[in-house]
Amino acid sequence: MIAYIERFVHDNDVDSLPEPETAEEQADLSPLFNGVDLQGTVEFAGCGSASGRDFGGVQLSKPLALIRPANSDDVAKVVRLASRSPHLTVAARGNGHSVNGQAMAHRGLVLDMKTIEPKITVDPATAQADVSGGALWEDVLKRCVLGYGLAPRSWTDYLGLTVGGTLSNAGVSGQTFIYGPQTENVTELEVVTGNGDVLVCSKNENPELFFSVLGGLGQFGIITRARVLLQPAPDMVRWIRVVYSEFSEFTRDAEFLVTRAEGDSFDYLEGFVFVNSDDPVNGWASVPLDSDQFFDPSCIPRAAGPVLYCLEVALHYKNEDPPSAVDMRSERLMGGLRFVEGLRFSVDVGYMEFLLRVKRAEEEAKANGIWDAPHPWLNLFVSKTDIADFDRVVFKNILKHGVGGPILIYPLLPSKWDSRKSVVLPEGEMFYLVALLRFCFPYPKGLSAQEMIVQNQEILQSCIQNGFDFKLYLPHYTSREGWKRHFGNQWTRFQERKARFDPMAILAPGQKIFPRNW
Ligand code: FAD
Repeated sequence: MIAYIERFVHDNDVDSLPEPETAEEQADLSPLFNGVDLQGTVEFAGCGSASGRDFGGVQLSKPLALIRPANSDDVAKVVRLASRSPHLTVAARGNGHSVNGQAMAHRGLVLDMKTIEPKITVDPATAQADVSGGALWEDVLKRCVLGYGLAPRSWTDYLGLTVGGTLSNAGVSGQTFIYGPQTENVTELEVVTGNGDVLVCSKNENPELFFSVLGGLGQFGIITRARVLLQPAPDMVRWIRVVYSEFSEFTRDAEFLVTRAEGDSFDYLEGFVFVNSDDPVNGWASVPLDSDQFFDPSCIPRAAGPVLYCLEVALHYKNEDPPSAVDMRSERLMGGLRFVEGLRFSVDVGYMEFLLRVKRAEEEAKANGIWDAPHPWLNLFVSKTDIADFDRVVFKNILKHGVGGPILIYPLLPSKWDSRKSVVLPEGEMFYLVALLRFCFPYPKGLSAQEMIVQNQEILQSCIQNGFDFKLYLPHYTSREGWKRHFGNQWTRFQERKARFDPMAILAPGQKIFPRNW
């Protein structure tokens, strides 16, 4: 049977899909799982549908089977099954919110991690929660806050992502400048390695596996459980946006706020670039926080350029905090900032409402068809040294008409990232996250995916030609050379980790880093 399967898996080229197999051929695959004794289920027919797509909508693949594991043992059995064939691969699929096929396994096995019973067990005494790798962060939030008044410290903007999916990348948002990415906020993992072993790891137990897996792009193991650090959840959030016409003033204020002593700044800081026009999606209207707030363009200085900048901050507080104390704390921090007078927006919202803010955007986008259109997103970490030139070349020039969705930009501190983990960062004491979150109507109403991809390439080319120090976040390369450049002096370490924890290169083939049997 293994030999039979191999007929299907020799072709690893996602971009040249062969014709689908017949129903008989699909049915013939089922003996592969005979004697494997899974508690979960295996689906052959139609498995090329949802599990062969992702949020990006620009890659398609056809897995041989979609497996819905019931527990970590099932995950280990599937990895061991694949190891008995010279060609089978295994992709853990979280919520499939990658944009370049990273969670796909063309002619391989896809594990739907969400089907493992999502356990979220909170220990208030140690302020930690044990959560399954396939649990959605929004479920972690609800369980921790509603059940215990506790919450994870570090988030992503959107919470319809799985714990294992974001921990395989980093998981960044407006709290990262304080606590580091989500990968810095877990103390223990249970992992199924590419060798089929189920291991618990932490800084003290199997530390090399722990550091490898966090930010490891799914290359070294499948996270089946994570122990997440918690803190007391606030009740309310004061959410503030202010506008800048000068990039240098925007960065000065953002950098000032993220480098203040711990506990003496906002609890959240992000920023975004928007178009200096009445464009309803990319322009002034994207700034106000409430429908009764009005963006008055007459406040914008005459000398302002084609794009403006918005600094977004938030302050946590409890219901019992006197309003005057909350005002005083926020005004003290806002006091020295140099934003444009008259362009300040503020609302007070519940903590869960704040963290679930993108969910509302998701509902709207689903209703008007842009959630299901292609999303060729580009995420970069750009060194602080080059960010002013990046603004000149990219924001003010290539992107002066916007991207049809948010263009995030905010500073992060490498000192909050443990370099033993697998993520690679630009050099220096500070870098910026830049995220082009393209939300366009399906072509021909909006741009075609190809046009957006070409623009991404133009941006990357400009970065290279100008010698900018940058790294892709949620990286995507199709050549070994691309990956070697990405990891730079960490490439040898990354390869050694692969050789140790997944020597046959069974895991996460959609990342296209190591071919099976490299
Ligand atoms: P998938 O896309 O399913 O998987 C991603 C990779 O991880 C794949 O290689 C997969 O094989 C691997 N993987 C999945 N589960 C596991 C596991 N249990 N163990 C090991 N490997 C696994 N990112 C941020 O950092 N901050 C944000 O604010 C943010 N916002 C986003 C908003 C939206 C609307 C979207 C679509 C994405 C956003 N992302 C953000 C990116 C997101 O973090 C990544 O795309 C993440 O990989 C998606 O999680 P997922 O569960 O869908 O993973």
